[in-house]
Amino acid sequence: MVMGTVCTINAYSDGTAQLYDDLFARLQKIENDFSVNISTSQVSAVNAAAGARAVSVSPDVLYVVRTALMYAKLTGGAFDPTVGPLVKIWGINTDHARVPSKDEITRALALINWRDVAVTENPDGSGTVMLRRPGMSLDLGGIVKGYAADELTAMLKARNVKRAVVDLGGNIYVYGTKKDGSPWKVGVKDPSAPDGDPALVLSLSNSTVVTSGVYERFFIQDGVRYHHILDTKTGYPARTGLLSSTIVCESSIAADALSTSVFVLGETNGMALLKQIEDGRVQGAEFTQIPGLHARVSAVFISENGSVSASKSLEGILTVKNGTPEFR
Ligand code: ADP
Ligand code: MG
Repeated sequence: MVMGTVCTINAYSDGTAQLYDDLFARLQKIENDFSVNISTSQVSAVNAAAGARAVSVSPDVLYVVRTALMYAKLTGGAFDPTVGPLVKIWGINTDHARVPSKDEITRALALINWRDVAVTENPDGSGTVMLRRPGMSLDLGGIVKGYAADELTAMLKARNVKRAVVDLGGNIYVYGTKKDGSPWKVGVKDPSAPDGDPALVLSLSNSTVVTSGVYERFFIQDGVRYHHILDTKTGYPARTGLLSSTIVCESSIAADALSTSVFVLGETNGMALLKQIEDGRVQGAEFTQIPGLHARVSAVFISENGSVSASKSLEGILTVKNGTPEFR
């Protein structure tokens, strides 16, 4: 149990006890650096200094913050790492989740704006992060598990592990192929029956599969389900007719940011963004370093009416429990 979720790593025949210790130590370190629930984390230090001063951060924290800000820009703020005040009033990820008052929501929304994050970078990759206004706070919950999956995959590669499956609470990386050379089969939960058979199965190697869904973290009040992916325009859980959005690509940090992003954007706008990325139509010097922007990025959407639609590039890779997906 790390980063608030069950994390499983299987390096098959190459996994020594030492390797697993090192991988889990890396996960623990990432949690200690990034968690807003750990008062001594670097992200908590940035939040505590909001409106007052810039805080020095390590290269890995700076990398994730900068990547998050670039995705915020790319999505017009649908993905926004300054969502902290809203996450807090909804009590997402706590045992006291509740619907906030209109007033609380208005006040939280006024504190959310990725443009008010100032970043400086030193030659060694470390730097500073400053939140310009008091009360602002970063919450990197929508991207950090993807970063962690990339880090673990890099460690596996560096240690010459041939094949592995990394599962950080549904944020999955399948590294290499199965022993017989065939692709791994990755299941995506059925939002209507998360404990039953998977709704989707993807056959993949050297890929990440990241899903954002209404069933992952939610609470029910007065018969209404409130989930943890928040619309930074309305202040309420995003409602775009989707039950889940899944991203498939090579970069897990990209997949994590994008799965949250397209969930908020909805199917039509989300698919348009992914097409823009795939066609290389994301222009501008600041975007050249964003992980995932120069690779194939595919998506699968499960809608409230049960229908499944997916990128054309997943034809032959994706199978669906109920019926056939619509490829577009
Ligand atoms: P999971 O936590 O299951 O990996 P996501 O990657 O979709 O799911 O991230 C959801 C988390 O991201 C929330 O718990 C919250 O911390 C944060 N978050 C919620 N809404 C947004 C948003 N609009 N932009 C960025 N982060 C968000
Ligand atoms: Mg995400």
